[in-house]
Amino acid sequence: MSSRHGLRAALLSSLVVACSSQRPADTNAVTSATTSASAGAAESPAPGAAESPGAAAAPARGAAPLRAPALPEPTFDEIARVLFADRASPSSAAAVCPSSTPPEARVRCLFDERYRGDAKAAGLAHELYVRWRVVAGVEVAHTMNGGYRGMIRIEPALPIGAERRHIEWIVSAMRDFDDFFAALDRRAPALEPGAEPPASRPKRFRFEPSTLRFMRSVAARTPSAYAHDWTVAWNLAGSLHRSADAVRETLFHEIFHLNDYAHPPPGGEAWSPRALGATFDAVVKKCGTSIACLGPYSPNDTIVRGGTYYSFQPGNGVREYAAELAVRYYREQRAALRALPKAESPTGRPPAGAARFKCGPPENARAWALMRDEFFGGGDVVPPCGS
Ligand SMILES: [Zn+2]
Repeated sequence: MSSRHGLRAALLSSLVVACSSQRPADTNAVTSATTSASAGAAESPAPGAAESPGAAAAPARGAAPLRAPALPEPTFDEIARVLFADRASPSSAAAVCPSSTPPEARVRCLFDERYRGDAKAAGLAHELYVRWRVVAGVEVAHTMNGGYRGMIRIEPALPIGAERRHIEWIVSAMRDFDDFFAALDRRAPALEPGAEPPASRPKRFRFEPSTLRFMRSVAARTPSAYAHDWTVAWNLAGSLHRSADAVRETLFHEIFHLNDYAHPPPGGEAWSPRALGATFDAVVKKCGTSIACLGPYSPNDTIVRGGTYYSFQPGNGVREYAAELAVRYYREQRAALRALPKAESPTGRPPAGAARFKCGPPENARAWALMRDEFFGGGDVVPPCGS
């Protein structure tokens, strides 16, 4: 790509930043009681999984499953603490749903109380819980250190009324992920009967966060979302939340961060620094922040205003490159499973590099294979290069 083309791409792009991935230790922002790291993963395969015709309907014999194991269910009090995190006493807010109520109806009562005034939003939040054990409540008010974005005030907010579209988009995204992983499961490479999976550590991608926390940034439109401890915080004012497709990919990006931290190497904090760090560093050494040079290596087309590709924006580091690579992996697999003519970015812009990421520079193929094997059970339904 010429540097003129790169400059033009930069000017055309008005995207800012996808997220601010963080661990609690890295920030003074997220206070206690933010995590009820205890929801379970949905086990039932979704009906109507979208994939190309002719795919096997039953799991391949010995296929490595892509699902994470189920975790313990959250208690009623844990759900109440997430839903009413903006109240001094969440348990008193829950008092309208007495313990004499049958358990399932009592949980439903809690969602109705939290989303009072918007029955449709209450129903969607309840669906998130029933189908995927995702508890969708609110963030705790705080001021976060947004790194190069500065200090940002965060207030709890609910996706109701005019903001309901956020929870509609998120539920649509979860249905998509459910279908996607079910379809990929069915296409997973079969192992010989009795053979062990390639390594002892779990390779599965868990697409259900435990907790969603809705919030609004004050006098800022970033970060659009951030993730920690199986929790995704979602900004109703986020600049990236412009369409169902954009939300789907932003959510996938955030959920990847959660998985990244769930696969630490011995003595490490997350999978990506050790697995992808050398590749990432080599590209940065070669290209610096040059948009023209980075184009073929950038998994996604997001460009930070006044900066470079989000994947390589200074200060973001290899974890953001990894999350963007995970999105690219998902986008290309999904397009192949659905027999779409091409894997389109929500922006509609063609990728700066190869149409199939793995068919770009050799660094791409290496990173792609590592991502495939660690998080997607070795499954890759994108046609091989040269075909
Ligand atoms: Zn991120």
